[in-house]
Amino acid sequence: MHPELIKLEQTFKPSILTKIDDPWLAQYRIKLWMKRDDLLHPIISGNKWRKLKYSLDHALSSGADTIISMGGAYSNHLHALAYVGKVLGLKTIGLVRGEQPVTLTPTLSDIQRWGMELRFVSRGDYRLLRQHKNYQALPGLQPGQYWLPEGGAQALALKGVAELVNEIAIPYDTFCAPCGTGATLAGMIDAVQQQVSVLGFAALKNAGFLRGEVEGLLSQSRHNWQINLDYHFGGFAKTNADLSEFSNDFESKTTIPLEPVYTGKMMYAVYDLIKKHYFKPGERIIALHTGGLQGKRGVSG
Ligand SMILES: *Cc1c(COP(=O)(O)O)cnc(C)c1O
Repeated sequence: MHPELIKLEQTFKPSILTKIDDPWLAQYRIKLWMKRDDLLHPIISGNKWRKLKYSLDHALSSGADTIISMGGAYSNHLHALAYVGKVLGLKTIGLVRGEQPVTLTPTLSDIQRWGMELRFVSRGDYRLLRQHKNYQALPGLQPGQYWLPEGGAQALALKGVAELVNEIAIPYDTFCAPCGTGATLAGMIDAVQQQVSVLGFAALKNAGFLRGEVEGLLSQSRHNWQINLDYHFGGFAKTNADLSEFSNDFESKTTIPLEPVYTGKMMYAVYDLIKKHYFKPGERIIALHTGGLQGKRGVSG
């Protein structure tokens, strides 16, 4: 590992397991914990660090001085990357989906302040960029430039995610996580012990393609996982009163903050599925808090 990355990681806080002691869970004989990757760092939050770590190490050891990646106007991935770039003295370029807005989103204005160069690309071009799925794949890449696919989703991301899995020292049956690109889920599937089931919740509508994406990232084929597509609440970053009420209630009971794009939807889904007897009595469930609380700004609800 590059010394600068080690130095940076030494400033991180531990990602603890928090037991959710909601009394109604006892009725279903369910034990529930959250793995708190939201606590790692106030800015380089959660799964974004896990996914970036070994790609950055690879970029640095291959002599890159510039990292190019892509994301939307609220992207937690670009936000984390821009900040890490600033800390490590790397140049960063963000290909941002859609027209340049008149006023930058809070996410984009942070990103710009930290020195990432923003290049706005049309939705059509953005879709095409998604096809370039590994670090050498972007056409026109210059010497010294390292390409990180959307969400940092490449094989090296899984190695960082495995570390969060290996930090868990208690026995459990099901490991839940929200899915955007599915790279975090793939890392979990790869790293959990044989008897653990991994359950992903798609944050996007019509996310049937996610299964193939996850399969494409796995180092070997596994059958211990599923992706639930039913809790997108109308689409990516869409929310409703039910979801906000759930998140507020959860936050006031547990003091664990959720955001509506990923972790709120996942926890809503986990609670709903428990009530629908989806899990067996006696099951021990861990839900991954992937962080992303900065993205809460500017998302309605
Ligand atoms: C990016 C993000 C995800 C999605 O992770 P993938 O690895 O792309 O599936 C989930 N939760 C939060 C908070 C995120 O920022």
